[in-house]
Amino acid sequence: MLFYGTPGEAVRVAKPKRGGKGFNYEVKGRFNAEGHFETDDPTLIERLKRKYKWYNPEAYHCTKCDFQTTKRGEFSVHYRHKHPRPIYDDWEEDE
Ligand SMILES: [Zn+2]
Repeated sequence: MLFYGTPGEAVRVAKPKRGGKGFNYEVKGRFNAEGHFETDDPTLIERLKRKYKWYNPEAYHCTKCDFQTTKRGEFSVHYRHKHPRPIYDDWEEDE
């Protein structure tokens, strides 16, 4: 399972402290330069899913950012609002 985070950020899971007061954090790895972290550990996957964005193979994936959704309509809305087509296609070449 692939997770998304801040590049270089430590992947941490909380462990309750003995006595039940507060948490200790255990570092499980680190996001790489692309902000990716991959694991096959089912226990770790369940923990990380609550905290980080993860790659869902059944979802639609935006090619311009790391947005994903399983709803087709939501995906079109995202694309229209976040990545509207420039008015002039050759806009960048004009510079
Ligand atoms: Zn996007």
